[in-house]
Amino acid sequence: MKKVGFAYDDIFLRHETPVWHPDQPERLAAITAELRRAGLWESLVHIPRRKATVEDILRVHAPDYLERIMSGKIGQLEDETWLSELSAEAAFYAAGAVLEAIDRIRLNEFQRAFCAVRPPGHHAEAAHAMGFCIFNNVAVAARYAQSIGMRKIFIIDFDVHHGNGTQHIFDEDDSVFYFSTHQELLYPNTGAESEHGIGPGRGFTYNVEMRTGSGDREYLAAYNDLLPPLMKRYFPDLVLVSAGYDIHTDDPMAAIRVTNEGIRAMVASILGSTYAPVVFVLEGGYQIKALADSVRVTIREMLR
Ligand SMILES: [Zn+2]
Repeated sequence: MKKVGFAYDDIFLRHETPVWHPDQPERLAAITAELRRAGLWESLVHIPRRKATVEDILRVHAPDYLERIMSGKIGQLEDETWLSELSAEAAFYAAGAVLEAIDRIRLNEFQRAFCAVRPPGHHAEAAHAMGFCIFNNVAVAARYAQSIGMRKIFIIDFDVHHGNGTQHIFDEDDSVFYFSTHQELLYPNTGAESEHGIGPGRGFTYNVEMRTGSGDREYLAAYNDLLPPLMKRYFPDLVLVSAGYDIHTDDPMAAIRVTNEGIRAMVASILGSTYAPVVFVLEGGYQIKALADSVRVTIREMLR
């Protein structure tokens, strides 16, 4: 059995949103309960909590945006993103969890990790919050990894929504490859297949738009056929996965129909396509049972 690092902290439950909001603390409570129920909790290497520093966040985010998050003001930050009393704290720990996973990979404690965090990150732009996201956890992690000597980072984003923030942050950068599959014509309406990066970053962004109703067949075509050669050619030092389980057939946020078996096969393909360490970072997934099942399936495959 492979060693798998797992990052989770109760602080992630303290990012509170309005009752009608899809991103509820119960999402994470369901994941940890399911991993315990399935007997997987004891098999994981539990990663100690870590708070990202201001310096860590500033590798990606604008100083005035960070100031606003740290100001202590609570309430609505933008259309879909809210700050409760401990949201900023949770956001620092969410980003920090991925940094700690990377440090422990460097120490050879494991080569695979899963960070069960919230708030999520991939919609967050350098200078503003967006779509439930405060800090772009994966982007902050990519820049941190580079600061400690990992040169090339490959980001895979299978959330049903396009990771506009991540793509934009690395648009002009050839040291971070961004690969995304997402449902077409869905929030945030970015991520056209014609977008391949800008300037020196051209050729280092790859978007796959999935048609409404796509399921295991379409996703496995992307993850078994398209992704592996891209990863092999890029030869990354680290792979970060924006793991959004709103692709699940039972998820109400979109119209993609990937099953538990489809998720297992996608994870297997990702892990089988690289010798680099792989860190999964939770993004979306709003049907509580489907989310917990999806994470269990992911972790089981990572442990194999
Ligand atoms: Zn999503």
